[in-house]
Amino acid sequence: MFLGDYHTHTNYSDGRGSVEENALAAKALGLREIAVTDHAFHVLSRKGEKYRRFLSECAAASDKTGVRVIPGVEADIISLEGDLDVSESEMGEIEYLIAGFHKFAPPKSASDFFKMYLVTYFNGLIPTSRRARERNTAAVISAIERYPIKVLTHLGHSLKVDVGAVARACAKKGVLVEINAKHLRDFQGAWRELAESGARFIVSSDAHRPADVGRLDAALQRALEEGIPPENIVNYSGD
Ligand SMILES: [Zn+2]
Ligand SMILES: [Zn+2]
Repeated sequence: MFLGDYHTHTNYSDGRGSVEENALAAKALGLREIAVTDHAFHVLSRKGEKYRRFLSECAAASDKTGVRVIPGVEADIISLEGDLDVSESEMGEIEYLIAGFHKFAPPKSASDFFKMYLVTYFNGLIPTSRRARERNTAAVISAIERYPIKVLTHLGHSLKVDVGAVARACAKKGVLVEINAKHLRDFQGAWRELAESGARFIVSSDAHRPADVGRLDAALQRALEEGIPPENIVNYSGD
């Protein structure tokens, strides 16, 4: 059984449903909690006015549905130094921060664009060099060391990194490694290292429409088959 789904999107960024629709979808599946984690560069725009609206909509949806709706933000790792696209003052207002690499987020500098982003546009046509993989790995580890990130999202997706090394850094820092229902393929060949990393995990849908909220069973099944210890999955109670 799952307590909640802690990575969902709404029309505050690139999702299709509203906050309340996500909460209702969670309720229909018997979940007690969800996090709405819209992308930082959408939800934090317009001088914070949009984010304040987002917070009150999450509170209203909690009251109305009885599902606890945690307002969150999914930030982007935008530089080789591990910068996130969230300012210090914005950071202070965020209750639940998750972060990952997204190839369509604006990079911090032209150098970051060429060294980090360009290769991801060709989706495997251009192989990532060993040097680049090391740089990317250092960037992600630096992000989890610099910011209060609760969950590292879709590790290994788009940006090629040493998944085992990042997972071990997450274990040390207490950052959860996400098992993302939409990006299981990115763990191919790395499941064993993940299982042995000592990290704790969270299964999430990364739903971009209400119908996908809480759809976690297939990802859980796969993770268990691949040897992830069930007691290391924090939102799963095992029965
Ligand atoms: Zn994402
Ligand atoms: Zn997402």
